[in-house]
Amino acid sequence: MSQPARRPAAVLFDRDGTLIHDIPYNGDPDRVAPVAGAREALDRLRGKGVPIGVVTNQSGVARGLIAPEALRAVNDRVEALLGPFDVWEICPHDDGDRCGCRKPAPGLVLRAARRLGVRPQDCVVVGDIGRDVEAARAAGARGILVPTPATLPEEVAAAPEVAPGLAAAIDLVLGGIQLTAEDEGRTTRAGG
Ligand SMILES: [Mg+2]
Ligand SMILES: [Zn+2]
Repeated sequence: MSQPARRPAAVLFDRDGTLIHDIPYNGDPDRVAPVAGAREALDRLRGKGVPIGVVTNQSGVARGLIAPEALRAVNDRVEALLGPFDVWEICPHDDGDRCGCRKPAPGLVLRAARRLGVRPQDCVVVGDIGRDVEAARAAGARGILVPTPATLPEEVAAAPEVAPGLAAAIDLVLGGIQLTAEDEGRTTRAGG
């Protein structure tokens, strides 16, 4: 079933394996490396005035593998490299904590939507594993999977929408947006 293409109220990104290369339990800002095309993808949304956020599981905090200050330093580096996000929602828990925010639970998506003042069902979640699209589904949001070589084939098969990369995911997100007269003018001038 194809999704209705309409402007999303916000786009929420998984962090590891989606915006930056996944280094398990990384607490070192110097090892933060953006995925190719991440900055451009985010800037397209910023340019359209679409709020963007990060929704990330960081169980390394609960496991004592990442200090909260190190997590903050890594996230600061993410913003330094990829630009500012309108909202960050982080789950520091592990499976045994049975919290409501660790993806595939919907808590991070619901909290991000609430902080942005938008409805979860008007949000898009972009992530690299099944947990991300399951969290989207549980929150009533639209989920788009951008697989990496580490993504399981069954997760790809189960995803409602799959994009080969972030640029393609943003194409899906923005696909139905009509250019405004102002945009058209800019395009024409740029083209001429
Ligand atoms: Mg991930
Ligand atoms: Zn949690």
